[in-house]
Amino acid sequence: STVLVAGYGVAGRSAVRALVAAHAVVLVTADGPVEIEPGPGERQPVALGPLARVPDDPEHPGRPRPDVLVVSPGYPPDHPLLADAAARGVPVWGEVELAWRLRGADAAPWLALTGTNGKTTTVHMLEAVLRAAGRRAIAVGNVGESLVDAVRAGTAYDVLAVELSSQQLHFAPSIRPAAGALLNLAPDHLSWHGSLDAYERAKTGVWRGDVAIVNLDDPRVMALAPPAATGFTLGEPGEGQLGVRGGRLVSRAFGDDGAVLADVAEVRPAGRHNVANALGAAALARALGVPADAVAAGLRAFVPDAHRNELVAVHDGIAWVDDSKATNPHAADASMSAYDRIVWIAGGQLKGVAVDELVAAHAGRLAGAVLLGQDRAAVAAALARHAREVPVITVDNPDHGAMVEVVRAAAGLAGTGDTVLLAPAAASYDMFAGFAARGDAFAAAVHELIGDAS
Ligand code: ADP
Repeated sequence: STVLVAGYGVAGRSAVRALVAAHAVVLVTADGPVEIEPGPGERQPVALGPLARVPDDPEHPGRPRPDVLVVSPGYPPDHPLLADAAARGVPVWGEVELAWRLRGADAAPWLALTGTNGKTTTVHMLEAVLRAAGRRAIAVGNVGESLVDAVRAGTAYDVLAVELSSQQLHFAPSIRPAAGALLNLAPDHLSWHGSLDAYERAKTGVWRGDVAIVNLDDPRVMALAPPAATGFTLGEPGEGQLGVRGGRLVSRAFGDDGAVLADVAEVRPAGRHNVANALGAAALARALGVPADAVAAGLRAFVPDAHRNELVAVHDGIAWVDDSKATNPHAADASMSAYDRIVWIAGGQLKGVAVDELVAAHAGRLAGAVLLGQDRAAVAAALARHAREVPVITVDNPDHGAMVEVVRAAAGLAGTGDTVLLAPAAASYDMFAGFAARGDAFAAAVHELIGDAS
């Protein structure tokens, strides 16, 4: 059969290699050359050039006619290529769907998770817990190496800890994880999905497997939860639930009768939302029969990811914190809640999401705000509506070097005891190569400002 792979990034490359090895005829849209050395009996993939050169007209004789379309999550569902595939009944698979279909008889089970925020933190907690239990596990999917490659590694892994984005879930209709958790839901990626409803519906795909795990404290999650789901809460757990009791994470699910999983104090980074993440990871691990004591060992071994509430420096009584990964208001909310008085650095691409609620909720703790990026005016307008007294500085420079101006402006607004918090509530691609580059630019500018070359 003929497969068209649209998008030749990291995932696209793995998909092409896997499909060539599966003896498919592979067409690829790629900006550059497609460098694959086919093995015996395998066919060279056909490079169609960038998507822009694939004829738009569905009747055009040069238009590819694949049996299956494999897309990278960069393609929104209303993209002409996808609309055309849908109209002709051609199945559209994402990398995750392809990986699921490539699994052999002895394939490792998947523990899957999704949510608006906390996915990467939780999947790395889960990986650490599984490894503490002696399982050969790897965190893959929306993080780390390609899921297709991990699946093709066959019996090299006992279990895959799979982070899934809403876009990946949208294009993965037939996956059936051993257990799947939906950590939390808040508006995000609305431009891609077209509506909040479509975004939320995509996320529920994580529950199509054997065990559904839900966050009992999240009303949006609970509104969609299947009846037989296993829940976790930051409160006292009821029967069949995981929760917190006397400063400890405990399980009353999966046959546990109040088993202690870990101390709340062992959970890093600090913050209630990370305790929720740890409970999500613990629930997934327990669903697969990982013993309770491996949870504490795993959480102790877990190394928090960079750019997530990372302390960059403390200077003149001012703490500088990089939470560049707070790319939507829900994440920024969790982040801001952890500090008393903040000079808030925000702005970037809001992806169609409003920041009014966020600004209104934190107006009382804002010592000032410094705004940057494409949607800075929308954040400024929300501040004008809900936090009129707060001094706001807007940096209009669209160059990534603008972070130096941003940090200087923030220093001018901050007083002793304040935290300058980069929690932009927005994506970074308008000015940076990604959230990591944005966080690095922030840290570099802070070190430059305080005259510390480290
Ligand atoms: P994701 O992979 O979903 O983007 P990360 O683990 O990278 O999630 O965390 C992204 C940001 O979201 C963090 O910087 C933090 O501010 C925030 N965050 C983490 N966990 C949660 C949570 N459970 N609820 C709300 N916000 C969270």
